Amino acid sequence: MRKVITIIMSGICMMPLLTACGKQTDTMKSADIFAMDTYMNLKAYGEDAEAAVAEAETRILALEQYFSVTSEASDVWKINHANGQPVTVSADTVCVLQTARQMHSDSGGALCISLYPVLRAWGFTTGEYRIPAGSDISNLLKYCDDTRIIIGEDTAQIPPDYAIDLGAVAKGYTGDAVMEIMREHHISSAIINLGGNVQTLGCKSDGSSWTVGITDPFAPDQLLGTVKVTDKAVITSGNYERYFTGDDGQKYWHILDPETGCPADNGLISVTVIGDCGAKCDALSTALFVEGAERAVQHWHKSGDFEMILVTSDGELLMTEGIVADYTVKKDIPCRVVHYIEKP
Ligand code: ADP
Ligand code: MG
Repeated sequence: MRKVITIIMSGICMMPLLTACGKQTDTMKSADIFAMDTYMNLKAYGEDAEAAVAEAETRILALEQYFSVTSEASDVWKINHANGQPVTVSADTVCVLQTARQMHSDSGGALCISLYPVLRAWGFTTGEYRIPAGSDISNLLKYCDDTRIIIGEDTAQIPPDYAIDLGAVAKGYTGDAVMEIMREHHISSAIINLGGNVQTLGCKSDGSSWTVGITDPFAPDQLLGTVKVTDKAVITSGNYERYFTGDDGQKYWHILDPETGCPADNGLISVTVIGDCGAKCDALSTALFVEGAERAVQHWHKSGDFEMILVTSDGELLMTEGIVADYTVKKDIPCRVVHYIEKP
């Protein structure tokens, strides 16, 4: 599974000019790592870039240890195997759980981290894909309800037979944690790509905005467009990221609708969310994908603190007003702009 969001940037290692975001002496440090089941790249510009990137790598691996659903040492494993008892978890796990619970409520249940038993039945957690029987799905859905997750100050608890998976939020939270480290090291300019979740700090070292590619979900090796951003997360959920084709010839993807226990098929095939907080954008991208265009637009109107680019299954692009000026078309498809509603 690898997302094909492309970051367009120069690979200059020594910055020759005094610029808005960088200094004459700034050096660039880049690292590629494989963690959380995906490829990640970190790039930082600043005097302390090397130490910042090294610390960020350590932090990513530590967070992976908390959030992994398969590692027996993880917080998630402990929660899932506690037979309904509360377990002590890290502050990071508490934070991710709170973000997920808030998004569960904001999205009318579309984001549901307790869907894990159903995801497992489809084989999305192991890659041993299969189409579960309808009766199996209905039985498992009885054990999926995020309102039953109890989050304490440093504890978490779920009912017996429940199980959670933080896959929809963990990478965004991890991106925020990396950016925190970059700031502590006085990094002026950084861009990270955590398996297609792109997060930026400041602007490019030459003072211009970062350019982030948006994958064409109909041709994932190509770009639909690019967006120019500064200090923002650009996070996409798409039906092309992890999927299998069933014996019936149908495509089944990894984002499930908690209403049906089946791949979410509410008219969207790709959702990109642009905002300040990686964890929130990550949770949102999955939630809006499940919600479908109409509910996603309502959600955007209510929330007002993010921008979004939606691609519908019939080939239309829907873009919120605030991102239009920063979007460059790479593939010309019908596009509709969603405007702010003026209060009467
Ligand atoms: P990716 O992990 O590919 O970046 P997402 O952020 O959209 O994509 O997260 C998808 C992951 O979230 C799935 O692989 C699965 O682990 C989990 N998931 C699937 N459907 C839901 C859902 N409705 N609510 C919460 N988590 C989900
Ligand atoms: Mg997500």
